[in-house]
Amino acid sequence: MSTIFERIIDGEAPATIVYQDDLVTAFKDINPIAPVHILIVPNKAIPSVQEVEAEDEAMLGRMFTVARKIAEEQGLAERGYRLIVNCGDEGGQEVYHLHMHLLGGKSLGPMLDRKFRL
Ligand code: AMP
Repeated sequence: MSTIFERIIDGEAPATIVYQDDLVTAFKDINPIAPVHILIVPNKAIPSVQEVEAEDEAMLGRMFTVARKIAEEQGLAERGYRLIVNCGDEGGQEVYHLHMHLLGGKSLGPMLDRKFRL
């Protein structure tokens, strides 16, 4: 079954796309938690990190170079930003199409809220 992200990549569902090439698509998160909140997703429908294969390494690398490019465009290169990839239930993944969150534009604080710490 296709996810909402596949439909966005194919242009069948609305999104504010900020970048697209042969391997990845980036668009604004519909429910942002920071002034800049962009999702970078592979065009190939890979459900999560648990399904990535060696043959996907070029695409996985592209996710990072595109993150850098978008961070620069958004004025985050000097300020700093955070990249997050959630995986599976306890990892907090909601959409089962691999994606990287690019977050920035404010001080993001510690990586995890204290309530999630041991
Ligand atoms: P995750 O919890 O890592 O699976 O994150 C899924 C993210 O997808 C959440 O931040 C959602 O706000 C975002 N999201 C869900 N549906 C859409 C959509 N149609 N367009 C843009 N972002 C979306």
